[in-house]
Amino acid sequence: MSDQHVYRADLRIDVDAIRHNVGVLAGRARASGAATMVVVKSDGYGHGAPEVARAALSAGAERLGVAAVEEALQLREAGITAPVLCWLFAESDEFVPAIRADVELSASSQATLARIVDAAAKLGRTATVHLKADTGLSRSGCPAELWPALVEAAAKAEAEGWIRVEAVWSHLACADELGHPSIDQQAERFARAYEQARAAGLDPIRHLANSAATLTRPDLHFDLVRPGIAVYGLDPVPQAGDHGLVPAMTFRSSVALTKRVEAGESVSYGHTWTAGQPTNLALVPVGYADGVPRSLSGRMQVWLAGKRRPVVGRVCMDQLVVDTGQDAVAEGSEVVLFGPGDLGEPTAAEWAEQLGTIHYEIVTGMYRPRVTRTVVGAR
Ligand SMILES: *Cc1c(COP(=O)(O)O)cnc(C)c1O
Repeated sequence: MSDQHVYRADLRIDVDAIRHNVGVLAGRARASGAATMVVVKSDGYGHGAPEVARAALSAGAERLGVAAVEEALQLREAGITAPVLCWLFAESDEFVPAIRADVELSASSQATLARIVDAAAKLGRTATVHLKADTGLSRSGCPAELWPALVEAAAKAEAEGWIRVEAVWSHLACADELGHPSIDQQAERFARAYEQARAAGLDPIRHLANSAATLTRPDLHFDLVRPGIAVYGLDPVPQAGDHGLVPAMTFRSSVALTKRVEAGESVSYGHTWTAGQPTNLALVPVGYADGVPRSLSGRMQVWLAGKRRPVVGRVCMDQLVVDTGQDAVAEGSEVVLFGPGDLGEPTAAEWAEQLGTIHYEIVTGMYRPRVTRTVVGAR
């Protein structure tokens, strides 16, 4: 885990781990005859979208998925030519640049479909569209009562040459809760939406599964799976057993200053911690502005000089203090705040549990103005 360079605040992104995880997921998909769309929204869940995309495509993924048009265009600007689907739009989004860049677009409503058709007509090109059904998440997607009209309108636009309907798709609400009754209910509604699309004369592929369903519901793989979080090595369904995923992000810093304090000396703002005996302190130059939650003050540990050691006192904006007890650690020593966990260091999942959130929120929030990203692994 250590290399020579001393980091202030760095996210090490292990593309070999990404490739390994994609191998696991694409292998599962292939076993049921499905292809894999790796989701790289929100800058690859904070890992760096172009790097993740390239690693994923080299490891057996066929497609990429993002939320925002800007994210899709960023992949094209990085020279990535694989199919990219984009699914969440604002009124201000322009579809002309997206279609020009061969970005596939999702439509959840006739209004969005009309905007896509307009943009395609303006360009004189055929747009590739994925029609999204709301099967019970009640977020994006077309409600069942509006679906027949949407697929009719799509069939008409397809006949006119402005769009090609590539897929019918939907998203699951509770796939990470094994056996949750909504999963089968959504699958039934999805089957009905697909039948209605066929009846309207469309011949689309189908996709429904996120990471959790990719790992636990092969019957819902259909033609394509859409894993996100598992690609990054974070398991959304650890209760279903060890899937052999490897976390790709390690957050590390290094010791900026060490000092010895006497018993009775207190540490950091508010003096919330007081040394019970003479001890050694190590100052680490990362704080809540760098993604270390202040609410973990007094209840987090870091990996430093071969073991876990407690962070004492408040986490500040720019720095935190570690109690190294009777060990005098060297300035410049590597500090791992979280990583894959194989040495015994904390993990993003552990942070999430302590904070009462999910590991998704941890990794997507880590890349900040003072934080660097270092990509490691074979190219
Ligand atoms: C984020 C997202 C995914 C991936 O979900 P994970 O739980 O990270 O696997 C798949 N599909 C859609 C529509 C999404 O928004």
